[in-house]
Amino acid sequence: MNRAAIKKLEFIARKLEPSESDRVAARKEVVTYSEKFLNNIEHIKAFNEKHDKGKGLWKAPISEKPLSIKKAIRLIEKSVDHPALNPASGGHFGYIPGGGLYYSSLSDYLAAITNRYAGIFYAGPGAVRMENILISWTAKISGYPSACGGNLTSGGSIANLIGICTARDAMNINSKNIRQSVIYLSPQVHHSINKALRIAGLGECIVRHLVLDDRYRIDSKKLEQQIRDDKKKKLNPFLMIASAGTTDVGAVDPLKGIGIISKKHKMWYAIDAAYGGYFMLTKAGKAKLQGIELSDSLSIDPHKGLFLPYGLGIVLVKDRKKMSATHFYQANYMQDSFSEIDEPSPCDLSPELTKHFRGLRMWLPLQLHGLSPFRACLEEKLLLTKYFYREIKNLGFETGPEPDLTVVTYRFVPDKGDADVFNKKLLEAVKRDGRVFISSTVLNGKFTLRFACLSFRSHLATVDCLLEILKSAKAKLERA
Ligand SMILES: *Cc1c(COP(=O)(O)O)cnc(C)c1O
Repeated sequence: MNRAAIKKLEFIARKLEPSESDRVAARKEVVTYSEKFLNNIEHIKAFNEKHDKGKGLWKAPISEKPLSIKKAIRLIEKSVDHPALNPASGGHFGYIPGGGLYYSSLSDYLAAITNRYAGIFYAGPGAVRMENILISWTAKISGYPSACGGNLTSGGSIANLIGICTARDAMNINSKNIRQSVIYLSPQVHHSINKALRIAGLGECIVRHLVLDDRYRIDSKKLEQQIRDDKKKKLNPFLMIASAGTTDVGAVDPLKGIGIISKKHKMWYAIDAAYGGYFMLTKAGKAKLQGIELSDSLSIDPHKGLFLPYGLGIVLVKDRKKMSATHFYQANYMQDSFSEIDEPSPCDLSPELTKHFRGLRMWLPLQLHGLSPFRACLEEKLLLTKYFYREIKNLGFETGPEPDLTVVTYRFVPDKGDADVFNKKLLEAVKRDGRVFISSTVLNGKFTLRFACLSFRSHLATVDCLLEILKSAKAKLERA
Protein backbone atom coordinates (compact mmCIF):
# COMPACT_ATOMS: atom_id res chain seq x y z
CA MET A 1 0.00 0.00 0.00
CA ASN A 2 1.75 3.15 -1.08
CA ARG A 3 1.01 6.79 -0.50
CA ALA A 4 0.40 7.41 -4.20
CA ALA A 5 -2.49 4.92 -4.25
CA ILE A 6 -4.03 6.59 -1.22
CA LYS A 7 -3.69 10.04 -2.77
CA LYS A 8 -5.30 8.80 -5.96
CA LEU A 9 -8.34 7.59 -4.00
CA GLU A 10 -8.37 10.82 -2.03
CA PHE A 11 -8.65 12.79 -5.26
CA ILE A 12 -11.83 10.91 -6.18
CA ALA A 13 -13.19 10.79 -2.60
CA ARG A 14 -12.88 14.56 -2.26
CA LYS A 15 -15.57 14.95 -4.88
CA LEU A 16 -18.00 14.24 -2.03
CA GLU A 17 -17.16 17.73 -0.76
CA PRO A 18 -18.42 20.16 -3.42
CA SER A 19 -16.50 23.40 -3.77
CA GLU A 20 -18.05 26.67 -2.70
CA SER A 21 -19.01 27.51 -6.28
CA ASP A 22 -20.57 24.07 -6.78
CA ARG A 23 -22.52 24.54 -3.55
CA VAL A 24 -23.75 27.92 -4.69
CA ALA A 25 -24.80 26.51 -8.06
CA ALA A 26 -26.64 23.52 -6.57
CA ARG A 27 -28.29 25.65 -3.92
CA LYS A 28 -29.47 28.12 -6.54
CA GLU A 29 -31.30 25.36 -8.40
CA VAL A 30 -32.90 24.04 -5.22
CA VAL A 31 -33.94 27.50 -4.07
CA THR A 32 -35.28 28.45 -7.51
CA TYR A 33 -37.39 25.30 -7.59
CA SER A 34 -38.66 25.58 -4.02
CA GLU A 35 -39.49 29.28 -4.47
CA LYS A 36 -41.44 28.47 -7.62
CA PHE A 37 -43.29 25.76 -5.68
CA LEU A 38 -44.14 28.09 -2.80
CA ASN A 39 -45.06 31.09 -4.95
CA ASN A 40 -47.51 28.90 -6.85
CA ILE A 41 -48.76 26.80 -3.95
CA GLU A 42 -52.26 28.31 -4.12
CA HIS A 43 -52.55 27.28 -7.76
CA ILE A 44 -50.77 23.93 -7.75
CA LYS A 45 -53.37 21.18 -7.64
CA ALA A 46 -54.06 19.32 -4.42
CA PHE A 47 -54.44 16.15 -6.47
CA ASN A 48 -53.07 15.26 -9.91
CA GLU A 49 -54.82 12.40 -11.63
CA LYS A 50 -52.56 12.28 -14.67
CA HIS A 51 -48.98 11.33 -13.87
CA ASP A 52 -46.20 8.83 -14.51
CA LYS A 53 -46.55 7.03 -11.14
CA GLY A 54 -42.94 7.97 -10.48
CA LYS A 55 -41.67 5.79 -13.32
CA GLY A 56 -39.61 8.67 -14.75
CA LEU A 57 -37.12 7.96 -11.98
CA TRP A 58 -36.00 4.81 -13.80
CA LYS A 59 -34.48 7.10 -16.43
CA ALA A 60 -31.75 7.88 -13.94
CA PRO A 61 -30.62 4.57 -12.42
CA ILE A 62 -28.07 4.76 -9.62
CA SER A 63 -24.77 4.41 -11.43
CA GLU A 64 -21.12 5.53 -11.54
CA LYS A 65 -22.12 8.55 -13.59
CA PRO A 66 -23.09 11.76 -11.83
CA LEU A 67 -26.33 13.51 -12.72
CA SER A 68 -26.57 17.30 -12.97
CA ILE A 69 -28.59 19.10 -10.31
CA LYS A 70 -30.79 20.58 -13.04
CA LYS A 71 -31.75 17.12 -14.29
CA ALA A 72 -32.19 15.82 -10.77
CA ILE A 73 -34.62 18.62 -9.91
CA ARG A 74 -36.55 18.12 -13.13
CA LEU A 75 -36.96 14.43 -12.24
CA ILE A 76 -38.10 15.26 -8.72
CA GLU A 77 -40.61 17.78 -10.04
CA LYS A 78 -42.11 15.49 -12.64
CA SER A 79 -41.96 12.08 -10.99
CA VAL A 80 -42.07 12.83 -7.27
CA ASP A 81 -43.77 16.14 -6.64
CA HIS A 82 -46.37 16.04 -9.41
CA PRO A 83 -48.02 12.60 -9.02
CA ALA A 84 -51.22 12.17 -6.98
CA LEU A 85 -51.68 13.93 -3.64
CA ASN A 86 -49.92 17.22 -2.93
CA PRO A 87 -49.84 17.28 0.88
CA ALA A 88 -48.36 20.79 0.92
CA SER A 89 -51.56 22.17 -0.61
CA GLY A 90 -54.12 23.97 1.55
CA GLY A 91 -56.66 22.11 -0.58
CA HIS A 92 -55.72 18.88 1.20
CA PHE A 93 -58.82 17.98 3.21
CA GLY A 94 -58.29 14.19 3.14
CA TYR A 95 -57.07 11.75 5.80
CA ILE A 96 -55.41 13.98 8.42
CA PRO A 97 -53.57 16.74 6.55
CA GLY A 98 -49.96 17.43 7.45
CA GLY A 99 -48.03 20.65 7.30
CA GLY A 100 -44.68 21.75 5.94
CA LEU A 101 -43.72 24.99 7.68
CA TYR A 102 -41.00 26.78 5.77
CA TYR A 103 -38.66 27.39 8.67
CA SER A 104 -38.52 23.65 9.34
CA SER A 105 -36.95 23.22 5.91
CA LEU A 106 -34.15 25.55 6.96
CA SER A 107 -33.74 23.57 10.18
CA ASP A 108 -33.45 20.33 8.25
CA TYR A 109 -30.86 22.00 6.05
CA LEU A 110 -28.83 23.09 9.05
CA ALA A 111 -29.26 19.76 10.84
CA ALA A 112 -27.95 17.93 7.77
CA ILE A 113 -24.97 20.25 7.40
CA THR A 114 -23.81 20.29 11.01
CA ASN A 115 -25.04 16.71 11.53
CA ARG A 116 -25.30 17.10 15.30
CA TYR A 117 -25.69 13.83 17.17
CA ALA A 118 -28.99 14.06 19.02
CA GLY A 119 -29.07 10.51 20.41
CA ILE A 120 -26.82 10.93 23.44
CA PHE A 121 -26.40 13.85 25.83
CA TYR A 122 -22.62 13.38 26.10
CA ALA A 123 -22.16 13.78 22.34
CA GLY A 124 -24.67 16.53 21.65
CA PRO A 125 -25.71 18.20 24.90
CA GLY A 126 -27.20 21.20 23.09
CA ALA A 127 -29.14 19.12 20.60
CA VAL A 128 -30.43 16.78 23.31
CA ARG A 129 -31.30 19.65 25.63
CA MET A 130 -33.20 21.33 22.81
CA GLU A 131 -35.24 18.16 22.24
CA ASN A 132 -35.88 17.81 25.96
CA ILE A 133 -37.06 21.42 26.14
CA LEU A 134 -39.59 20.68 23.38
CA ILE A 135 -40.73 17.55 25.21
CA SER A 136 -41.12 19.50 28.48
CA TRP A 137 -43.09 22.20 26.67
CA THR A 138 -45.44 19.62 25.16
CA ALA A 139 -45.67 17.97 28.60
CA LYS A 140 -46.61 21.28 30.16
CA ILE A 141 -49.45 22.01 27.75
CA SER A 142 -50.64 18.41 28.25
CA GLY A 143 -50.72 18.78 32.03
CA TYR A 144 -47.85 16.30 32.48
CA PRO A 145 -45.10 16.80 35.08
CA SER A 146 -41.94 18.32 33.60
CA ALA A 147 -39.89 15.35 34.84
CA CYS A 148 -41.88 12.94 32.68
CA GLY A 149 -40.21 10.84 30.01
CA GLY A 150 -40.53 11.73 26.38
CA ASN A 151 -39.11 11.20 22.95
CA LEU A 152 -39.26 12.86 19.56
CA THR A 153 -40.19 10.06 17.19
CA SER A 154 -40.65 9.86 13.44
CA GLY A 155 -44.42 10.04 13.88
CA GLY A 156 -47.47 8.91 15.79
CA SER A 157 -47.15 5.23 14.93
CA ILE A 158 -43.76 4.88 16.60
CA ALA A 159 -44.94 7.09 19.47
CA ASN A 160 -47.82 4.66 20.04
CA LEU A 161 -45.44 1.70 19.84
CA ILE A 162 -43.11 3.16 22.47
CA GLY A 163 -46.04 3.89 24.78
CA ILE A 164 -47.49 0.40 24.39
CA CYS A 165 -44.15 -1.39 24.90
CA THR A 166 -43.66 0.64 28.07
CA ALA A 167 -47.16 -0.27 29.26
CA ARG A 168 -46.49 -3.96 28.61
CA ASP A 169 -43.39 -3.97 30.82
CA ALA A 170 -44.73 -1.62 33.48
CA MET A 171 -47.78 -3.85 33.87
CA ASN A 172 -45.65 -7.02 33.96
CA ILE A 173 -47.28 -8.74 31.03
CA ASN A 174 -45.41 -11.95 30.35
CA SER A 175 -45.85 -15.48 29.06
CA LYS A 176 -47.60 -16.53 32.29
CA ASN A 177 -50.39 -13.98 32.23
CA ILE A 178 -50.68 -12.80 28.64
CA ARG A 179 -53.71 -14.88 27.72
CA GLN A 180 -55.70 -13.58 30.69
CA SER A 181 -54.66 -9.96 30.15
CA VAL A 182 -57.22 -7.60 28.67
CA ILE A 183 -56.85 -4.50 26.50
CA TYR A 184 -59.75 -2.07 26.03
CA LEU A 185 -60.05 0.10 22.96
CA SER A 186 -62.50 1.73 20.61
CA PRO A 187 -63.24 0.13 17.25
CA GLN A 188 -62.38 3.62 15.94
CA VAL A 189 -58.83 3.46 17.31
CA HIS A 190 -56.09 4.24 14.76
CA HIS A 191 -54.71 1.12 13.09
CA SER A 192 -51.18 1.98 14.27
CA ILE A 193 -52.39 0.92 17.73
CA ASN A 194 -53.39 -2.52 16.46
CA LYS A 195 -50.03 -2.77 14.71
CA ALA A 196 -48.17 -1.69 17.83
CA LEU A 197 -49.98 -4.30 19.95
CA ARG A 198 -48.89 -7.01 17.53
CA ILE A 199 -45.29 -5.77 17.28
CA ALA A 200 -45.12 -5.48 21.08
CA GLY A 201 -45.98 -9.17 21.35
CA LEU A 202 -49.40 -8.51 22.83
CA GLY A 203 -51.27 -10.34 20.08
CA GLU A 204 -52.34 -13.05 22.49
CA CYS A 205 -54.05 -10.64 24.88
CA ILE A 206 -57.82 -10.40 24.97
CA VAL A 207 -58.92 -7.25 23.12
CA ARG A 208 -62.29 -5.71 24.00
CA HIS A 209 -63.71 -3.48 21.30
CA LEU A 210 -65.81 -1.11 23.33
CA VAL A 211 -69.35 0.07 22.77
CA LEU A 212 -69.52 3.61 21.32
CA ASP A 213 -72.13 6.30 21.77
CA ASP A 214 -73.90 7.91 18.83
CA ARG A 215 -70.93 10.25 18.34
CA TYR A 216 -68.41 7.41 17.95
CA ARG A 217 -66.97 7.97 21.43
CA ILE A 218 -66.31 5.29 24.00
CA ASP A 219 -69.29 4.84 26.32
CA SER A 220 -67.54 5.00 29.69
CA LYS A 221 -70.45 3.50 31.68
CA LYS A 222 -70.45 0.38 29.53
CA LEU A 223 -66.65 0.31 29.74
CA GLU A 224 -66.72 0.05 33.51
CA GLN A 225 -69.30 -2.76 33.39
CA GLN A 226 -67.06 -4.63 30.94
CA ILE A 227 -64.04 -4.29 33.25
CA ARG A 228 -66.08 -5.55 36.23
CA ASP A 229 -67.30 -8.52 34.21
CA ASP A 230 -63.74 -9.33 33.17
CA LYS A 231 -62.48 -9.10 36.73
CA LYS A 232 -65.22 -11.51 37.85
CA LYS A 233 -63.88 -13.93 35.28
CA LYS A 234 -60.45 -13.60 36.95
CA LEU A 235 -59.02 -11.85 33.92
CA ASN A 236 -56.32 -9.17 34.13
CA PRO A 237 -57.51 -5.81 32.73
CA PHE A 238 -54.25 -3.88 32.26
CA LEU A 239 -54.42 -1.48 29.32
CA MET A 240 -56.94 1.17 28.38
CA ILE A 241 -56.50 3.05 25.11
CA ALA A 242 -58.47 6.18 24.28
CA SER A 243 -58.27 8.66 21.42
CA ALA A 244 -58.09 12.44 21.63
CA GLY A 245 -59.40 12.86 18.12
CA THR A 246 -59.97 9.72 16.08
CA THR A 247 -58.65 9.78 12.55
CA ASP A 248 -61.85 8.58 10.95
CA VAL A 249 -64.41 10.95 12.46
CA GLY A 250 -62.35 13.23 14.73
CA ALA A 251 -64.12 12.02 17.90
CA VAL A 252 -62.67 12.75 21.31
CA ASP A 253 -63.36 9.95 23.80
CA PRO A 254 -64.50 11.01 27.30
CA LEU A 255 -60.88 11.27 28.45
CA LYS A 256 -61.60 12.26 32.03
CA GLY A 257 -64.23 9.61 32.71
CA ILE A 258 -62.07 6.90 31.19
CA GLY A 259 -59.08 8.19 33.17
CA ILE A 260 -60.94 7.89 36.46
CA ILE A 261 -62.05 4.34 35.61
CA SER A 262 -58.51 3.36 34.57
CA LYS A 263 -57.05 4.65 37.85
CA LYS A 264 -59.74 2.91 39.89
CA HIS A 265 -58.93 -0.40 38.24
CA LYS A 266 -55.16 0.21 38.31
CA MET A 267 -54.78 0.01 34.56
CA TRP A 268 -52.29 1.71 32.27
CA TYR A 269 -54.05 4.54 30.46
CA ALA A 270 -52.70 5.37 26.99
CA ILE A 271 -54.11 8.23 24.94
CA ASP A 272 -53.54 8.59 21.23
CA ALA A 273 -53.63 12.33 20.61
CA ALA A 274 -51.55 12.14 17.43
CA TYR A 275 -54.13 14.18 15.57
CA GLY A 276 -55.89 16.17 18.27
CA GLY A 277 -53.22 16.86 20.88
CA TYR A 278 -52.04 20.34 19.91
CA PHE A 279 -55.59 21.71 19.94
CA MET A 280 -54.74 22.11 23.62
CA LEU A 281 -53.15 25.37 22.53
CA THR A 282 -56.67 26.71 21.98
CA LYS A 283 -59.28 27.47 24.62
CA ALA A 284 -61.96 25.33 22.99
CA GLY A 285 -59.54 22.47 22.39
CA LYS A 286 -58.32 22.54 25.96
CA ALA A 287 -61.87 22.20 27.22
CA LYS A 288 -62.54 19.31 24.81
CA LEU A 289 -59.37 17.46 25.81
CA GLN A 290 -59.89 17.71 29.56
CA GLY A 291 -58.62 14.59 31.26
CA ILE A 292 -55.71 14.09 28.88
CA GLU A 293 -53.43 14.71 31.86
CA LEU A 294 -54.75 11.57 33.55
CA SER A 295 -53.06 9.31 31.00
CA ASP A 296 -49.89 7.33 31.70
CA SER A 297 -48.64 7.68 28.12
CA LEU A 298 -49.56 10.06 25.36
CA SER A 299 -48.83 10.28 21.63
CA ILE A 300 -49.01 13.59 19.85
CA ASP A 301 -47.88 14.59 16.34
CA PRO A 302 -46.21 17.94 15.66
CA HIS A 303 -46.30 17.00 11.97
CA LYS A 304 -50.07 17.25 12.24
CA GLY A 305 -51.12 19.76 14.89
CA LEU A 306 -48.06 22.01 14.69
CA PHE A 307 -47.98 21.96 10.87
CA LEU A 308 -44.41 20.67 10.65
CA PRO A 309 -43.24 18.67 7.65
CA TYR A 310 -43.65 14.90 7.95
CA GLY A 311 -41.33 13.12 10.29
CA LEU A 312 -42.11 14.30 13.80
CA GLY A 313 -44.20 12.71 16.52
CA ILE A 314 -43.88 12.87 20.29
CA VAL A 315 -44.48 10.27 22.96
CA LEU A 316 -44.75 11.21 26.62
CA VAL A 317 -44.67 8.74 29.50
CA LYS A 318 -45.57 10.15 32.88
CA ASP A 319 -43.11 7.97 34.78
CA ARG A 320 -39.76 8.29 33.03
CA LYS A 321 -38.29 5.34 34.95
CA LYS A 322 -40.83 3.04 33.34
CA MET A 323 -40.06 4.34 29.87
CA SER A 324 -36.38 3.86 30.51
CA ALA A 325 -36.88 0.34 31.93
CA THR A 326 -38.16 -0.74 28.51
CA HIS A 327 -35.71 1.14 26.31
CA PHE A 328 -32.43 1.61 28.21
CA TYR A 329 -29.34 -0.38 27.24
CA GLN A 330 -25.65 -0.10 27.96
CA ALA A 331 -22.98 -1.14 25.48
CA ASN A 332 -19.29 -1.33 26.28
CA TYR A 333 -18.27 0.80 23.35
CA MET A 334 -20.44 3.61 24.64
CA GLN A 335 -18.95 3.67 28.14
CA ASP A 336 -17.59 7.24 27.80
CA SER A 337 -21.07 8.59 27.42
CA PHE A 338 -22.25 7.57 30.88
CA SER A 339 -20.09 10.01 32.80
CA GLU A 340 -22.20 13.10 32.42
CA ILE A 341 -25.97 12.83 32.59
CA ASP A 342 -27.72 16.00 33.62
CA GLU A 343 -30.33 15.36 30.89
CA PRO A 344 -31.95 12.09 29.78
CA SER A 345 -30.69 10.86 26.40
CA PRO A 346 -33.16 10.06 23.61
CA CYS A 347 -31.48 6.67 23.02
CA ASP A 348 -32.45 5.56 26.54
CA LEU A 349 -36.13 6.25 25.93
CA SER A 350 -36.65 4.85 22.44
CA PRO A 351 -35.58 1.95 20.22
CA GLU A 352 -33.40 4.33 18.18
CA LEU A 353 -29.73 5.09 18.73
CA THR A 354 -28.56 7.28 15.88
CA LYS A 355 -31.34 9.45 14.58
CA HIS A 356 -32.18 12.59 12.69
CA PHE A 357 -31.82 15.73 14.81
CA ARG A 358 -35.58 16.28 14.82
CA GLY A 359 -35.70 18.88 17.51
CA LEU A 360 -34.36 21.67 15.34
CA ARG A 361 -37.25 21.49 12.86
CA MET A 362 -39.72 22.03 15.69
CA TRP A 363 -37.69 24.52 17.71
CA LEU A 364 -36.88 26.99 14.92
CA PRO A 365 -40.45 27.62 13.67
CA LEU A 366 -41.75 27.88 17.25
CA GLN A 367 -39.02 30.42 18.02
CA LEU A 368 -39.27 32.43 14.80
CA HIS A 369 -43.07 32.66 14.78
CA GLY A 370 -43.84 32.65 18.50
CA LEU A 371 -46.91 30.75 19.65
CA SER A 372 -49.66 33.15 18.65
CA PRO A 373 -49.92 32.23 14.91
CA PHE A 374 -50.02 28.54 15.88
CA ARG A 375 -52.92 29.12 18.25
CA ALA A 376 -54.71 31.30 15.69
CA CYS A 377 -54.23 28.73 12.95
CA LEU A 378 -55.63 25.91 15.11
CA GLU A 379 -58.56 28.06 16.19
CA GLU A 380 -59.17 29.02 12.56
CA LYS A 381 -59.33 25.31 11.66
CA LEU A 382 -61.89 24.66 14.41
CA LEU A 383 -64.08 27.50 13.10
CA LEU A 384 -63.63 26.52 9.45
CA THR A 385 -64.88 23.07 10.39
CA LYS A 386 -67.98 24.47 12.09
CA TYR A 387 -68.52 26.61 9.00
CA PHE A 388 -68.19 23.63 6.65
CA TYR A 389 -70.52 21.56 8.85
CA ARG A 390 -73.21 24.25 8.55
CA GLU A 391 -72.72 24.97 4.85
CA ILE A 392 -72.67 21.33 3.74
CA LYS A 393 -75.95 20.80 5.61
CA ASN A 394 -77.34 23.83 3.76
CA LEU A 395 -76.41 22.12 0.50
CA GLY A 396 -78.72 19.29 1.49
CA PHE A 397 -76.09 16.78 2.57
CA GLU A 398 -76.59 14.36 5.46
CA THR A 399 -73.95 14.95 8.13
CA GLY A 400 -72.43 12.88 10.89
CA PRO A 401 -72.19 14.14 14.47
CA GLU A 402 -71.30 17.74 15.23
CA PRO A 403 -67.49 17.89 14.98
CA ASP A 404 -65.47 17.54 18.21
CA LEU A 405 -62.41 18.94 16.44
CA THR A 406 -61.84 19.37 12.69
CA VAL A 407 -63.32 16.32 10.96
CA VAL A 408 -66.80 16.28 9.42
CA THR A 409 -68.42 13.22 7.88
CA TYR A 410 -71.13 13.75 5.29
CA ARG A 411 -72.88 12.14 2.35
CA PHE A 412 -75.56 13.08 -0.11
CA VAL A 413 -78.64 10.92 -0.34
CA PRO A 414 -80.19 11.40 -3.79
CA ASP A 415 -83.92 11.08 -4.45
CA LYS A 416 -83.33 8.12 -6.67
CA GLY A 417 -80.47 5.67 -7.13
CA ASP A 418 -77.90 4.19 -4.78
CA ALA A 419 -76.41 6.68 -2.31
CA ASP A 420 -73.07 4.84 -2.05
CA VAL A 421 -72.62 4.98 -5.81
CA PHE A 422 -73.63 8.64 -5.89
CA ASN A 423 -71.05 9.61 -3.24
CA LYS A 424 -68.31 7.58 -4.89
CA LYS A 425 -69.01 9.54 -8.06
CA LEU A 426 -68.90 12.79 -6.11
CA LEU A 427 -65.49 11.83 -4.75
CA GLU A 428 -64.28 11.01 -8.27
CA ALA A 429 -65.50 14.39 -9.52
CA VAL A 430 -63.58 16.21 -6.76
CA LYS A 431 -60.46 14.21 -7.64
CA ARG A 432 -60.81 15.01 -11.34
CA ASP A 433 -61.09 18.71 -10.58
CA GLY A 434 -57.98 18.43 -8.42
CA ARG A 435 -58.04 21.85 -6.75
CA VAL A 436 -58.98 20.21 -3.47
CA PHE A 437 -58.63 16.67 -2.18
CA ILE A 438 -61.04 14.78 0.06
CA SER A 439 -61.15 11.19 1.24
CA SER A 440 -63.86 8.79 2.30
CA THR A 441 -64.65 6.16 4.89
CA VAL A 442 -67.30 3.60 5.76
CA LEU A 443 -69.58 4.39 8.70
CA ASN A 444 -72.31 1.96 9.75
CA GLY A 445 -71.79 0.20 6.45
CA LYS A 446 -72.34 3.37 4.43
CA PHE A 447 -69.89 5.02 2.04
CA THR A 448 -69.23 8.41 3.65
CA LEU A 449 -67.22 11.46 2.63
CA ARG A 450 -64.82 13.12 5.05
CA PHE A 451 -63.67 16.69 5.53
CA ALA A 452 -60.48 16.96 7.60
CA CYS A 453 -59.15 20.45 8.12
CA LEU A 454 -55.63 20.75 9.48
CA SER A 455 -53.39 22.22 6.80
CA PHE A 456 -52.02 25.62 7.84
CA ARG A 457 -52.67 26.68 4.25
CA SER A 458 -56.43 25.96 4.36
CA HIS A 459 -58.44 29.13 4.77
CA LEU A 460 -61.98 30.37 4.15
CA ALA A 461 -61.45 30.61 0.37
CA THR A 462 -60.17 27.02 0.24
CA VAL A 463 -63.22 25.71 2.10
CA ASP A 464 -65.51 27.79 -0.14
CA CYS A 465 -63.76 26.26 -3.15
CA LEU A 466 -64.52 22.74 -1.85
CA LEU A 467 -68.16 23.67 -1.17
CA GLU A 468 -68.44 25.13 -4.68
CA ILE A 469 -66.98 21.99 -6.28
CA LEU A 470 -69.28 19.70 -4.27
CA LYS A 471 -72.30 21.82 -5.09
CA SER A 472 -71.75 21.81 -8.84
CA ALA A 473 -70.69 18.13 -8.97
CA LYS A 474 -73.81 17.17 -7.03
CA ALA A 475 -76.04 19.19 -9.37
CA LYS A 476 -74.41 17.58 -12.40
CA LEU A 477 -74.85 14.07 -11.00
CA GLU A 478 -78.48 14.77 -10.12
CA ARG A 479 -79.13 15.86 -13.70
CA ALA A 480 -77.38 12.83 -15.18
C1 LIG B 1 -51.98 10.01 12.12
C2 LIG B 1 -52.40 9.25 13.30
C3 LIG B 1 -51.59 8.22 13.81
C4 LIG B 1 -50.36 7.75 13.12
O1 LIG B 1 -49.38 8.72 13.13
P1 LIG B 1 -48.25 8.77 12.02
O2 LIG B 1 -47.59 10.05 12.33
O3 LIG B 1 -48.95 8.76 10.69
O4 LIG B 1 -47.38 7.58 12.19
C5 LIG B 1 -51.99 7.62 14.99
N1 LIG B 1 -53.12 7.97 15.60
C6 LIG B 1 -53.92 8.94 15.13
C7 LIG B 1 -55.18 9.28 15.88
C8 LIG B 1 -53.60 9.61 13.96
O5 LIG B 1 -54.41 10.56 13.49
